[in-house]
Amino acid sequence: MDEKTAKNMKDQDVYKLLLAKSKHWPAALQQILKTCQTTKNTVMYHQPVYNGNIPENWYNDRLFLIGDAAHPYGPGGQGMSLAMLDAEALCGLLTQELTAEGKENFQKTRMAIAKSKGESSEERNKPENQISSKWKLTLKGVLMRIYQLINAGKIEL
Ligand SMILES: Cc1cc2nc3c(=O)[nH]c(=O)nc-3n(C[C@H](O)[C@H](O)[C@H](O)COP(=O)(O)OP(=O)(O)OC[C@H]3O[C@@H](n4cnc5c(N)ncnc54)[C@H](O)[C@@H]3O)c2cc1C
Repeated sequence: MDEKTAKNMKDQDVYKLLLAKSKHWPAALQQILKTCQTTKNTVMYHQPVYNGNIPENWYNDRLFLIGDAAHPYGPGGQGMSLAMLDAEALCGLLTQELTAEGKENFQKTRMAIAKSKGESSEERNKPENQISSKWKLTLKGVLMRIYQLINAGKIEL
């Protein structure tokens, strides 16, 4: 979801979306949502989460941006790994002589990865790409398990 859409959403719009999504939730979770909506003293509010723009410069002299400060994408399952891999790459950079070329290369490679992973997460998170049936979820679980066994749990980012 882009920043403008997220900020323009009203609580009621969010409830409507939640209600539509909750049709596929387990009964216990649906009940919690229902209870929240019907219980007088329960306060429900939404906090917009959206993608920020990736800055053009990730460094200034000896100051570097990594993690969400460099690529503020919304939740999508990649942010934490990308942040840790940025940190690893930065450690590699700092153990060598800090050159203009090294800094530029750090920014170029990390930015390319962040953009590609961020965009693919966004695509996956679109409502039309969500898994909504039990058998598809089971199939995904089986495929992920096979992938995990083949790659010993490692996914290259
Ligand atoms: C709702 C939600 C769900 C998410 N789910 C997932 C998920 O399932 N998988 C995944 O990989 N990622 C997920 N993410 C993204 C993930 O949380 C972030 O990508 C990751 O935490 C980024 O790490 P970071 O260290 O760059 O930033 P942060 O984790 O935000 O760390 C920054 C730290 O700096 C501190 N700080 C800020 N300003 C100052 C200051 N002036 N002085 C001192 N300290 C300061 C903050 O308090 C914070 O502790 C999710 C994010 C959200 C919001």
